[in-house]
Amino acid sequence: MIDTKHIEHFTQLVGDENIYSDKAHLIAYSYDATREHFEPDAVIFPRNEEDVSAILKYCNEHKIIIVPRGAGSGFTGGALPSHGGIVLAMEKHMNKILEIDMKNMVAIVQPGVINMDLQRAVEEVGLFYPPDPASQDYSTIGGNVSENAGGMRAAKYGITKDYVMATRAVLPNGDVIKAGKRTIKDVAGYNISGILIASEGTLAVLTEITLKLIPKPKMTK
Ligand SMILES: Cc1cc2nc3c(=O)[nH]c(=O)nc-3n(C[C@H](O)[C@H](O)[C@H](O)COP(=O)(O)OP(=O)(O)OC[C@H]3O[C@@H](n4cnc5c(N)ncnc54)[C@H](O)[C@@H]3O)c2cc1C
Repeated sequence: MIDTKHIEHFTQLVGDENIYSDKAHLIAYSYDATREHFEPDAVIFPRNEEDVSAILKYCNEHKIIIVPRGAGSGFTGGALPSHGGIVLAMEKHMNKILEIDMKNMVAIVQPGVINMDLQRAVEEVGLFYPPDPASQDYSTIGGNVSENAGGMRAAKYGITKDYVMATRAVLPNGDVIKAGKRTIKDVAGYNISGILIASEGTLAVLTEITLKLIPKPKMTK
């Protein structure tokens, strides 16, 4: 159980409409698809990367557990606050498609974007985002990247890791990192985005993801 002074701090930071510690919210955010359940101490809806950074920095200094969460459809328990703490829920604010770059064939999205919303948006302009987990109607790109989700089209087109070009993320101490670029010929240095893929929120909180797109197939079967 975290001290009420911490809840007050977060309330001042994000506004009382973006933090909940009532029983209904704690129960709603205690589940994922594993059917295990562990209640957090509070649920926070960060409005932007600055909020994520400030929250992580404060939690790091005060040894408060943070669990990032997309749609809670994961089967690994990664979104479960098994030791309490704060659930950082991305679906309310950090859910925007920021850019569809036709020239470089990439989409830049916030982590709370729902997979199917991205698929529809890029198909409208003649492009295609292949990873299609069966949870595509509700699972988020942040969750897809953090679980390296695959889907029915994986055998032909590959899985999420094959489409992540770049990431922005917040480290536990609040520092923001940028890794990768929107161009294919970005080959220098460590593949930091690659380390974040499938890391289930254990290393950093993703705040922006650049995804490779391909031309929309002329036919589907
Ligand atoms: C009916 C059903 C069908 C499914 N089909 C498939 C399938 O075909 N293929 C497949 O691979 N999976 C499938 N899944 C599993 C699940 O949907 C995927 O793992 C999906 O990628 C999880 O996304 P989510 O938004 O629900 O993430 P969540 O469950 O909320 O979180 C998953 C993990 O990602 C982390 N996370 C979320 N957002 C962030 C962030 N911004 N930064 C850092 N970490 C973050 C969480 O901490 C957690 O560890 C299915 C699940 C269901 C219920």
